[in-house]
Amino acid sequence: MRSLISITDLSVEELQSLLDTASQIISDPQRFSHICEGKKLATLFFEPSTRTRLSFEAAMYELGGQVIGFSSANSSSASKGESVADTAKVISCYADIIAMRHPLEGAPLVAAENASIPVINAGDGGHNHPTQTLADLLTIWREKGRLSDLTVGFCGDLKYGRTVHSLIAALSRYSGIKVVLISPHELRAPDYVKKDILDAKAIPYEETTDLETALPNLDILYMTRVQRERFSDSEEYERLKDSYILTAEKLEKGRSDLSVLHPLPRVNEISVAVDKDPRACYFKQVLNGKYMRMALIMMLLEQKDKTQLRTPDYVTGKRHCSNPRCITTVEQELEQAFFLADPEKEIYRCKYCEAEAE
Ligand code: ASP
Repeated sequence: MRSLISITDLSVEELQSLLDTASQIISDPQRFSHICEGKKLATLFFEPSTRTRLSFEAAMYELGGQVIGFSSANSSSASKGESVADTAKVISCYADIIAMRHPLEGAPLVAAENASIPVINAGDGGHNHPTQTLADLLTIWREKGRLSDLTVGFCGDLKYGRTVHSLIAALSRYSGIKVVLISPHELRAPDYVKKDILDAKAIPYEETTDLETALPNLDILYMTRVQRERFSDSEEYERLKDSYILTAEKLEKGRSDLSVLHPLPRVNEISVAVDKDPRACYFKQVLNGKYMRMALIMMLLEQKDKTQLRTPDYVTGKRHCSNPRCITTVEQELEQAFFLADPEKEIYRCKYCEAEAE
């Protein structure tokens, strides 16, 4: 069964084919308006969302399909204690494809392992958000005409910002990518991004706390919100929440062909005055997200019987995942499994959330 859990479930060729399909949809939407007639998308959102859920719903309607689902954990059987695996089995009897958002990391992978229909990860905790990456890639491609030879600055909450993790994983597969990670020390990108992706692929990157110095060298500036809902310490959130605010004045230091992206929602990290600047692309990103979700739904429904691309070897026993936000630490009947991320240092990571095993 084909699902999209991590952006690396798609090959570079498949990403290109999604970009091409999205471009065709943009130029002739009518041609696609009946493709999903008779098909149902289930949107299982255990965590709040505006654009991702409505974007999936709009995408399915524009393909001529229908949508069922819920938009909060309280209105699902999770509130009665149902496991993600059982929910996935049940929904497979009602729908043709699932889009799932969940606060626990790895939950959509558990759903994919138990569903008999494709599952799309619509955001799992602070881990991954591959369909936002599809929106980001289409935006970069339309703005720049390429996905290679780019210096990309990621700014803000790089620790919990799942869209950052997924976009770095995607861009790491193109040539000539350089990355600048701009964040407070406390919100630096996790090791599975820096070591397993950037170091492993020899992608040049630097870490800094200083946006203004980094700005003049960037082709893309990817701003993010500090993810309040992931903090266990509200004082820490208060201290860090205003770390970066991109104002029109600061943006003067950026190149004339810079593109400013943001997955939204914005809190205050980009001043409203920046919206008028032609370099601001974040509202275009929203529309691009709908087109890419249309292309993805079509692709997964067509390829549902194909096997997943990623099938690392997993080991069980001995080790355990210590991430309190991992689905396996909460749903304790799930068997924990790990893959060898770094053979030299013998680092194993959790199959579900990629945290280092203990
Ligand atoms: N909408 C994005 C997400 O769901 C970004 C954010 O919430 O800050 O991760």
